[in-house]
Amino acid sequence: MDLFEHEARELFEKHGVPVPRGRVAADPAAARSAAAALGGPVVVKAQVKTGGRGKAGGVRVVRTADDAEQAADDILGMDIKGHTVHRVLVTEASEIADEYYLSFLLDRAGRTFLAMASAEGGMEIEEVAATRPDALVRVPVDPLAGVDAAAVAAVFPADVRAEVAGVVERLWEVFTAEDCTLVEVNPLALTATGIVALDGKITLDDNAAFRRSSSFGTAADGDPLEREAHAKGLNYVKLDGDIGVIGNGAGLVMSTLDVVAAAAADAGARGPANFLDIGGGASAQVMVDGLTVVLGDPQVRSVFVNVFGGITACDAVATGIVRSLEILGPRATKPLVVRLDGNNVTEGRRILADAAHPLVTVVATMDDAAREAAKLAMAEV
Ligand code: GDP
Ligand code: MN
Repeated sequence: MDLFEHEARELFEKHGVPVPRGRVAADPAAARSAAAALGGPVVVKAQVKTGGRGKAGGVRVVRTADDAEQAADDILGMDIKGHTVHRVLVTEASEIADEYYLSFLLDRAGRTFLAMASAEGGMEIEEVAATRPDALVRVPVDPLAGVDAAAVAAVFPADVRAEVAGVVERLWEVFTAEDCTLVEVNPLALTATGIVALDGKITLDDNAAFRRSSSFGTAADGDPLEREAHAKGLNYVKLDGDIGVIGNGAGLVMSTLDVVAAAAADAGARGPANFLDIGGGASAQVMVDGLTVVLGDPQVRSVFVNVFGGITACDAVATGIVRSLEILGPRATKPLVVRLDGNNVTEGRRILADAAHPLVTVVATMDDAAREAAKLAMAEV
């Protein structure tokens, strides 16, 4: 999960990485009072989970509280690469003498962690890497031994090396203590008061979410159906189409999306409305939760339930489907195409046939089921 800059800043502060003083504001009046409280010139910065805010006009350095209010009024509501600005960060402005780049990341290809540093910060690091590769150092980091801060700081001018090395240590602490897969500072600025992190980007490792106490990511961010699904513990991703997809196992659901997309294209339907992996269990309750979320999507016109019985046999899954339709009652409103295969498939199909639910069509193969779901999505209701 990516964090907002102001959230990254909070973690920097917690671990002793120097940051300018600042406050978050959700409306221009709050930006004005934040600027007044900070005193002097401030920077008003769009809080969106994408880079290049400066270029897009989402970062403004202003002299007075009046100007901060005006800047916030201009920036709030702005669209930056498809992200709407709901909040701004107001920080005290720094006089920048030099701009550097510093990051830690998970280097999947190298099967290690990596520190990257450059004395040429401010601009996009991809550009530095492409045009001046020598200006970017990459130092592998052994997670047990920790970072060789001196080796990373060696790329910076001699007079700031020791101070930057201290920041390198602090940032590595952020990376490990907060379970990150990315910590990036661009620019790390040299100012009159020393080295300061003027921008921060953090990606948290979602695999460590269970041992994290912070509530980052619960703000009004992301799709409401995704939030509902995640609250129910479902592995759900909202997509743009009109055919709901429910399956067990990420691989099966991925292939189902492909098959549904192809069938939808043939039938003139829009395609899969979501990814939803209900996992191995597929109990009645998980089916109820899954169907509730998928049927709660107003764009959905039909649902394809594609289950391969493995450890959980098809009869248990079929019972789950029947039970969940009983529980949902009148809330189940859209046609369901069910394809069952694998362990105990005959018994599973018999259970669905006996239930003879008017909304359910059982189809033997995945391709035919996808075609049926696409046809139903196009049917007049
Ligand atoms: P990004 O464009 O999304 O990476 O946003 P940044 O937070 O990095 O800000 C973009 C640029 O604004 C930085 O590279 C700086 O040049 C400038 N900037 C940010 N904070 C300050 C500040 O306190 N003082 C001055 N003078 N410029 C700043
Ligand atoms: Mn930046």
